[in-house]
Amino acid sequence: MSLKYVDEVNFKGKKVIARFDFNVPLAKDGSGKITDTTRIDMAMPTIKYILEHGASKLIMMSHLGRPKDGVKDAKYSLEPVAKYLATKLGQEVVLTESCTDKGIKNLIGLNATKLVLLENVRFHIEETKNDHEFAKTLAGYADFYVNDAFGTAHREHASTYEINAFFKNNNAAGFLMRQEIEALNKVVESPKHPFIAIVGGAKVADKIKIIEKLLVNVDKMIIGGAMAYPFLKAQGHNIGKSLCDAEDVDLARKILGSASAKKISLPIDHIVSDSTEGKGETINSKDIPSEKMGLDVGPKTMEYFRDTLKDAQTVLWNGPMGFFENKEFAKGTMEIAKILSNLKGAFTLVGGGDSVSAVQKAGLSDKMSHVSTGGGASLEYIEQGTLPGIKALKFGV
Ligand code: AMP
Repeated sequence: MSLKYVDEVNFKGKKVIARFDFNVPLAKDGSGKITDTTRIDMAMPTIKYILEHGASKLIMMSHLGRPKDGVKDAKYSLEPVAKYLATKLGQEVVLTESCTDKGIKNLIGLNATKLVLLENVRFHIEETKNDHEFAKTLAGYADFYVNDAFGTAHREHASTYEINAFFKNNNAAGFLMRQEIEALNKVVESPKHPFIAIVGGAKVADKIKIIEKLLVNVDKMIIGGAMAYPFLKAQGHNIGKSLCDAEDVDLARKILGSASAKKISLPIDHIVSDSTEGKGETINSKDIPSEKMGLDVGPKTMEYFRDTLKDAQTVLWNGPMGFFENKEFAKGTMEIAKILSNLKGAFTLVGGGDSVSAVQKAGLSDKMSHVSTGGGASLEYIEQGTLPGIKALKFGV
């Protein structure tokens, strides 16, 4: 059974409810300013297609941030998103008080209302619990369901998963979902070799399964960022005060003991400091002095990684090479972005919120073959070959 996309659907006169990933970063000053609109912009083709092909209503849903315990919190309101959408579309977008307001049905009944944005779905604890009744309430607003929220498709939530129970054969995926799936399939199904994965960042336990799976398929794997320290420690190196959980060292040891371990490239020197706010100092050794923490890969490592990547035909990059939020420790991450942007004829896929923002900061997004809107989702797709939200669209729940 193949996945149905919006351009195979007749939307004439239909009330459509659609799940997007409008989980955009907001300015820390509380002004409600969206600092990166990419996720909304990427949803635009699907929104426009539905509206231009005769839908009578479009009811949009999304989450924003992680409101605690499903409680309403003004700082996670979708109000800035509603404003941005209205400007982009040149039409009024009505933001509801919640997803379950008594007035929503009446609102949708009004001729004048075409575009509705339901307030943050995660203001309801039922969303993340994949609650059947909550999904039923959402489904009750429409005749057709569209999911274009790739970044959340790895979650079994009411608005991404259970809602499909009420739209048998009346659901479809959006264009962003298609774009992401097609790009990821190039890496999952028939990657051109040499295929090199670059894994960085800090969430070792989250990424360890994918590392194991990827190691079998790739020709080489570069491990940098905080991700490298459990591996270096497992090899017996001193990692000083660097970020590292004891259980991650056990996981790293297991991976280093596998047959594919020889494919792994680890840092051979480091940029260290006393803290993440400090100034960087180069340590020309794999070992880090006891009182210092490793915060970026060093210059020799960068040359080593550059050489490792030189003939790559497929590159998958997830996670920064250092604590790049402080520019003292951003060099390794920016260099990787530059190297990938200069690879001739290679398919380069960047996933993961932080590597994506690094590529954007470097102004190199356009030079990558694909920049995924979903970090966790793209890794899980590579690991599983599908995602719960996609399976539910295809086969129901
Ligand atoms: P992840 O979500 O796993 O991709 O992790 C991204 C985070 O890892 C970013 O906030 C980075 O600053 C952080 N990070 C990467 N390398 C280091 C490091 N050497 N020490 C501390 N944090 C790091």
